[in-house]
Amino acid sequence: MKIGNIANYLKTNKKKTIIIASVIAFVLIGGTSFGVVAVKYKLFCQHEWLAATCHSPEKCSKCDRERGEKLEHQWKPADCENPEICKLCGDTRNKPLGHKWTNATCEKPKTCSVCSKTEGKALGHKWEDATCEKPKTCKVCGKTEGKANGHDWKEATCEKPKTCNTCGKTEGKAKGHDWEDATCTEPQTCKRCGKTEGEALGHDWIDATYDAPKTCSRCGETDGDPLVYEDYSYDDYSYDSGYNNYDSGSSGKSKTEQYAEEFADKFASGAWLWDDDANKDLGETLGKIGWSALLGSLK
Ligand SMILES: [Zn+2]
Ligand SMILES: [Zn+2]
Ligand SMILES: [Zn+2]
Ligand SMILES: [Zn+2]
Ligand SMILES: [Zn+2]
Ligand SMILES: [Zn+2]
Ligand SMILES: [Zn+2]
Repeated sequence: MKIGNIANYLKTNKKKTIIIASVIAFVLIGGTSFGVVAVKYKLFCQHEWLAATCHSPEKCSKCDRERGEKLEHQWKPADCENPEICKLCGDTRNKPLGHKWTNATCEKPKTCSVCSKTEGKALGHKWEDATCEKPKTCKVCGKTEGKANGHDWKEATCEKPKTCNTCGKTEGKAKGHDWEDATCTEPQTCKRCGKTEGEALGHDWIDATYDAPKTCSRCGETDGDPLVYEDYSYDDYSYDSGYNNYDSGSSGKSKTEQYAEEFADKFASGAWLWDDDANKDLGETLGKIGWSALLGSLK
């Protein structure tokens, strides 16, 4: 159909044309409107489903249409510092448990017994110096370092046991004095330390004799000289006037000594044949000089 024919047709079929045009207009307007609505409401979406989460089911990234169910949260238990956390979405619920602190010690800071987290610093030891018997020791925890110093012993003496110069500790017993008996001139004395006790005994004197001076029976000490024979006069004796003639000067001996020697000779020879007078004289003489002196001369 040529264009001229179409125009003719339109002229001759005016009514029809209006109807047709109306239909065309209606279709165009309606179709367009539908298209707009379809696009607007995404009636013909090629869905691209996003995975479901805890908060939403599967969802189309283009049209936001959803399908299926939301996921369940998967809760990870709470710990000291974190509340329960969903492993999937990171949501939290409830509160952290809080740390269970153990107090700081000498060597460890305040520490959580559950998670081992620490806070602050260890307290450090409070050292006490080493002594004779204990090494350097912490007052708080008892930890030790190094060795004890050991005692500085001073040997036992007569009156004190073995004793530590540093701490005064003793061991064993005192030795006790090593006494040496008292003598005439010294009191009882300790051989080790020189301590004395009591007093000296004093000499035990035996009187002087004609042979020996005054002498101590214990220590033998002497004092002075032996007794000296008295030079008796025999002038009155009739026994043997010859004795009266002894010369006290020439022999260095007294008459008595000479007499005693004479007597000793007679005694030794058994010449005891004296008369009564002689016995009487002898008796008197002995009475005067004493037996001890006479016997002393008989040695
Ligand atoms: Zn979609
Ligand atoms: Zn979740
Ligand atoms: Zn903790
Ligand atoms: Zn300590
Ligand atoms: Zn000591
Ligand atoms: Zn002593
Ligand atoms: Zn004495």
